[in-house]
Amino acid sequence: MIDVIDRIRDIVGDSRIFPEESLKNYTTFRIGGKCRALVMPSTKEEIIKVVTLLRETNTNFFVMGNGSNLLVSDEGFDGIVVSLKFFKGIEVLEEDDKTFTVRVMAGELMSSVGNYLARQGVEGFEFATGIPGTIGGGVRMNAGAYGGELKDILVNITAIAEDNTVVTLSNEELELSYRTSILAKKNYICLDACFKLNKGDSLDIKAKIKEYANSRKEKQPLNYPSAGSTFKRPEGYIAAKLIDEAGLKGLQVGGAKVSEKHAGFVVNVGGATAKDVIELTDKVKEVVKEKNGVSLELEVVKLGF
Ligand SMILES: Cc1cc2nc3c(=O)[nH]c(=O)nc-3n(C[C@H](O)[C@H](O)[C@H](O)COP(=O)(O)OP(=O)(O)OC[C@H]3O[C@@H](n4cnc5c(N)ncnc54)[C@H](O)[C@@H]3O)c2cc1C
Repeated sequence: MIDVIDRIRDIVGDSRIFPEESLKNYTTFRIGGKCRALVMPSTKEEIIKVVTLLRETNTNFFVMGNGSNLLVSDEGFDGIVVSLKFFKGIEVLEEDDKTFTVRVMAGELMSSVGNYLARQGVEGFEFATGIPGTIGGGVRMNAGAYGGELKDILVNITAIAEDNTVVTLSNEELELSYRTSILAKKNYICLDACFKLNKGDSLDIKAKIKEYANSRKEKQPLNYPSAGSTFKRPEGYIAAKLIDEAGLKGLQVGGAKVSEKHAGFVVNVGGATAKDVIELTDKVKEVVKEKNGVSLELEVVKLGF
């Protein structure tokens, strides 16, 4: 592993590799132990070289974006974490009176992209602007909110396939469905994504973004660390409603608590461990199953378990 870390250092430089880094500070849940090294490549070439090296040396690795949908185990991750947070850039591919097509690098935050498009008077990305993840994480999860999902506006993506070739995958090939995509099934790594959107009125677009942000502030427990909605929406039900009706709001294990404000969120009220979150979510699943017969499934991605 030391040899691999040295070889990665040669690719990304000293300032972009952090051995024995705690992942707690890189997840919105503020939970998790150390990894063997955290690497932050900032160009496409660096990402391809690092991933190829990791695969060729059979090194355990994990690609992360903004860590806003991750639960990292207290024991950490016995491998290399490749964070794409520094891989940024937005490129306008085509523009006419009505449409606007952009390519966005995987590490751009959806909020930055949404605000950039609003300034350009481009509509259609407002729903995603308040989702605190990167474009890569968003594509992997087919992130969505307020009636929209990335599937609606994605043209294609560029990705590293399992054999380390760089491929283009169309919207259809991505098999985007509720909070998942082919990236999850085939270990593709998203490098960039192309979106086709319509021109609109900049003030209206900014107003819509603000309206959604206010709605989030009002309904979500944004004052505590979390990973957003803890559970997927079960077919025909709303997870938060089931949890609330089961009387589980406020249920707490250690520092992990079912939010009183929004039962669909498990929040870290202080010093929560991954073990606390798992114990709490297992309890929630058990009670909801008992009361409603519905099986809840975690939306949050687990690492190092
Ligand atoms: C307060 C709050 C509100 C939220 N609201 C919403 C919401 O409204 N709608 C919604 O859909 N989600 C929401 N989320 C969850 C989360 O923001 C999304 O799932 C987001 O898309 C995750 O992006 P990320 O960059 O943080 O991914 P990470 O959490 O870093 O990773 C998530 C998964 O994506 C994979 N991944 C990351 N980057 C890449 C890449 N480049 N290529 C391949 N795989 C990759 C990781 O391996 C992991 O499996 C919310 C989270 C929080 C904390």
